[in-house]
Amino acid sequence: MELEVEILEVREFEENFAVKLKETPFYPDGKGGQLGDRGTIGDATVMRVFEKSGDVWHVVDKPLHMGKVIARIDTKRRKDIAQQHTAQHILSAAFIETSGIETVGFHMGEEYSTVDLDVPLLTEEALCSSLRLANEIVQSCLTVEILKVQPENVGRYRLRKPVHSKVIESGESVRLVKIGEFDISACSGFHVENTGKVGMIAIFKAEKIKTSQTRVYFLAGRRLERYIYKVTEILGKVTSNLTCSTNELATRVDNLLKEMKNVKNFNKRLSERLAREIALRGNFEQLGNVNLVLWEDEAEVATFLPKYLENYLLVAKTKNGFLLASDIMDCSKVVEKLRDTGVVKGGGAGRSRGQIISDLELREFKKLVKRVITDADTSAQY
Ligand SMILES: [Zn+2]
Repeated sequence: MELEVEILEVREFEENFAVKLKETPFYPDGKGGQLGDRGTIGDATVMRVFEKSGDVWHVVDKPLHMGKVIARIDTKRRKDIAQQHTAQHILSAAFIETSGIETVGFHMGEEYSTVDLDVPLLTEEALCSSLRLANEIVQSCLTVEILKVQPENVGRYRLRKPVHSKVIESGESVRLVKIGEFDISACSGFHVENTGKVGMIAIFKAEKIKTSQTRVYFLAGRRLERYIYKVTEILGKVTSNLTCSTNELATRVDNLLKEMKNVKNFNKRLSERLAREIALRGNFEQLGNVNLVLWEDEAEVATFLPKYLENYLLVAKTKNGFLLASDIMDCSKVVEKLRDTGVVKGGGAGRSRGQIISDLELREFKKLVKRVITDADTSAQY
């Protein structure tokens, strides 16, 4: 959609520019919970549209000159917004019709939209029956009419939600969106002209919010089509990797998780057994009365070693450095001395355990530790 607009003001805004028009065809972001328009003004791209103190500002990526230019509105985006917004009206009305549940909030995002329902626990029956009715309304191809009604006449219509008193007091006509005989409510956003154009509505998630509300996430129209393509593709890959059908997927994943848990427990038992064997075998390097135990293999074994060692300083290689543990030395002092060398990047410790961030090899780190603990201070027992 192309039309001529007049630029009245241009300002620097954050890292871009904000433009005010004499009269804007762009719908602002977030008004009535809806997404705003995008497009171009002159050769600049509109990245955001916001309302402040009654003025509408268009955030654009280039500076523009005052005067008349051509603006283009992204109509594909408007169509998507209209599908999502009409779907919301239908869904909200369906929740009231089937279950008496009111909508208390609506948010449209770039990927999905949400309605907040005034119910602490949404039963599966309420969800399914409302969604079924909503899609029946979509398939009934009801006409969606826009009515401009004088404020004093608004009371003649049975609106889903009462119009705010400020709107009535403003004296301006009220825009009502009427979906056949199914729903009527005041709204300034975009809507399709026939419910059939919503295509289909799907709820893909419901979660409890605050203490007494439920948020449902929905998709409609082309967004839903794209979602189905994406989910089908993911399902195809996963079922092929797991060599099962879609129907078998949940059981297959459950079984795999159980198997994984068993394997983890088995590994844990093996790690502990190995740690015990290592401790029993002994033969550690002696530094005075301290057994210096070095470990650079499975991290889980290192976590069990302290349980079976005595008079030890354990130095175990980790992902980012080294783990220190001791029953005879103050690890915090060892770590402090190691940090003082300036060779290690950082670390922290309590008395019996410490962490060192370092990319040194275990052999080099061992030399450093030996150098540091020959210091009388750090070898102090506790
Ligand atoms: Zn609306």
